[in-house]
Amino acid sequence: MTSSDDLAPAFPTVDGADFATADSFDVVNPATGEILGAAPAIRAEDLDHVFGSAADAFRTWSRNDDARRRHLRAAADALDADQDRLSRLLTLEQGKPLHDSVIELQASSAWLRYYADLGWPDEVLRDDSEGYEAVRRRPIGVVAAITPWNFPILLAVWKIAPALRAGNTVVVKPSPYTPLTTLAVGAVLRKALPPGVLNVVSGPDPLGAAMVAHPVPRKISFTGSTATGMRVAAAAGEDLKRTTLELGGNDPAIVLADADVDAIARDLFWGAFGNNGQICLAVKRVYAHENIHDRLVEALASIARDTKVDDGLVPGAELGPINNAPQFDRVSDLVADALGRGARAACGGAALDRPGYFYAPTILDNLDDGVRVVDEEQFGPVLPIVAFRDERDAVERANRSNYGLTASVWSGDPDHAYAIAERVDGGQVSVNTHGGGVRMHLPFGGHKWSGIGVENGPWGLLGFTELQVVTGPARGNPR
Ligand code: NAD
Repeated sequence: MTSSDDLAPAFPTVDGADFATADSFDVVNPATGEILGAAPAIRAEDLDHVFGSAADAFRTWSRNDDARRRHLRAAADALDADQDRLSRLLTLEQGKPLHDSVIELQASSAWLRYYADLGWPDEVLRDDSEGYEAVRRRPIGVVAAITPWNFPILLAVWKIAPALRAGNTVVVKPSPYTPLTTLAVGAVLRKALPPGVLNVVSGPDPLGAAMVAHPVPRKISFTGSTATGMRVAAAAGEDLKRTTLELGGNDPAIVLADADVDAIARDLFWGAFGNNGQICLAVKRVYAHENIHDRLVEALASIARDTKVDDGLVPGAELGPINNAPQFDRVSDLVADALGRGARAACGGAALDRPGYFYAPTILDNLDDGVRVVDEEQFGPVLPIVAFRDERDAVERANRSNYGLTASVWSGDPDHAYAIAERVDGGQVSVNTHGGGVRMHLPFGGHKWSGIGVENGPWGLLGFTELQVVTGPARGNPR
């Protein structure tokens, strides 16, 4: 199902042009398990040139805000113009249904336009005959942006758009599982951005570590696992580089006794299974009141059984494969462990018998906290449902986690649910929906081990700036 067009040779973008590399690595199509193509591997020694280009571009880019707005709008237009080709490529390497890839591309250009339009005035605290005091925001310099494989383009744009708008220049490195679309986006955006402003490199994991260790970038914006995020924070700390870390989650949904099971089941299901559960803020465990537990399990299992799982390029596919072999193995292990400890698979519970990394959407019950699939982040198409009797107990269990990304509370009485939501840990808590706060104008970030700092909205942009206080005598005063 691939055409030669989808797989034009991929090059890093450095200083607005192709950057030739001697080495490459394979990228697999998760729907077949076969090699899809090769991606260029940048060596650590090449980073002086890459970051040098970004540092040179910073001198001009940081000075002209009107030009930055224009360029970001042009970047959005360029992405839109190539949406069909980029979406297909994204499905080929990531696995998600083509429709979801199109949405990811559309959201990415919308985010670029949002940041092109956003304003953030200097704050003048005093400007009178006695003196002048202002608080300004300055760009930090060169930003190293490191991204995961679940939303390769959107999560890169969550960094690129605010970082560029604030006046920084960027070097972005996608996950080695999904480098091709990000490299293609780099090539597309050359038409819209001055050379050196946005550089795209690819390589295996050690390239990320080399970027963090390099002396030029002054800010690391990282999205990925908590384990890697901790390594990034430690390495960045050696040089006091600024960091924003968007990390893992084990997001709870608490379903109260008065929830209308039939009305909420579909939203709850897709809150957990969207992108095959490979969303940092997916529902990863459900605490269901014992009065509605059995009905909820059956309603979710029935939706799971009806969900069409297929190659993302097949029309009508609702879920694709898991993205990569280690993640497929992890999901398989977590389910086997739970089943071995007495859990019941109300549906699914095994891989699909076909090539590629396909796993049946799985609903597990008859399990409790202390089982790995409840306590750990599964990041796959598996949802454990744990029964509870007492609401306070449910909140305590929800909060008994090192993670704190998002959460949700579901009830027939939204006011009661809002009161409970206030007691649940997490950077975003929603009522009768999950992930409702993921909007371009709202801050997104995790508490505890789920991250440091936020993305999106003005808050996300301010994370790519340093405060500067300017004081002195009254302005226009000749003294
Ligand atoms: P990962 O941590 O394995 O890799 C993320 C990126 O870091 C990749 O580009 C990788 O090459 C790079 N990397 C690896 N080692 C590095 C090092 N030592 N220094 C610097 N960079 C390094 O994560 P993943 O498996 O790609 O992504 C899945 C994880 O990402 C899940 O835990 C998920 O919850 C999390 N995630 C979080 C958010 C969020 O916004 N909070 C969003 C999406 C995904």
